[in-house]
Amino acid sequence: MQIVTATPAVTPDLDGKVADSIQLLQDAVRQFGRVVYATSLGSEAAVLTDLIFTHAPQIDVFTVDTGRLPESTLELLARIERRYQRRIRVVFPEAQRVQNYVADHGINGFYQGLAQRQACCHIRKVEPFQRAIVGYNAWVTGVRHEQSAERAEVKALEWDGRYRLQKVNPLLDWSHAEIWNYIRQEKLPYNPLHDAGYPSIGCAPCTRAVQPGQDSRAGRWWWEDPESRECGLQPRQLPGSISDL
Ligand code: SF4
Repeated sequence: MQIVTATPAVTPDLDGKVADSIQLLQDAVRQFGRVVYATSLGSEAAVLTDLIFTHAPQIDVFTVDTGRLPESTLELLARIERRYQRRIRVVFPEAQRVQNYVADHGINGFYQGLAQRQACCHIRKVEPFQRAIVGYNAWVTGVRHEQSAERAEVKALEWDGRYRLQKVNPLLDWSHAEIWNYIRQEKLPYNPLHDAGYPSIGCAPCTRAVQPGQDSRAGRWWWEDPESRECGLQPRQLPGSISDL
């Protein structure tokens, strides 16, 4: 099984990248005022949460509890709150909409087809996210250039027409190794599933470990065509940070 958090390569310019990321976050607060970060509780989120809580605490942080998250993700949330002595707002789906979905499609209806899966993601992730960002001027993402060809084109500051917010991308130049270097160096809390072959962690029934050499998102919605594996928060043409939710 792949150990995705194995000892990372030496990255001597990490300090400079940390400083640049902090600068961007602080500038975003000065420029845009109300800034929000939706944490996926993944590896990039560990870094961003640390930078925000330590250096740009004016940025509000929330997460979406879909109701189907792994227990280790919820335990991680509690560990983060203990470490930083700060409460993270947890946003939930609308109960009636979840009940209606389950009545129509069954408790695991997302396995029945793409439309059913996307409907579940919309109810449990997209709508709560859209509700949570109302009133903000900018949102922070954990997008990195090396994640995909589309993400290689992303700029540090961009207008996000989908949500009508400024998008702030402080980790663009960070490599996967640097993310894990920083997590190790700062002893940041992270999800133990990363050590069990889960590079990308979402809802429990829709996430599984990947094999060595597989794409990092191969374990997400693995029964679908690779092109459809997005949750609706971040379609491929508009990349962002919380598709890990
Ligand atoms: S990842 Fe799976 S369980 Fe979670 S919201 Fe999407 S379809 Fe539903």
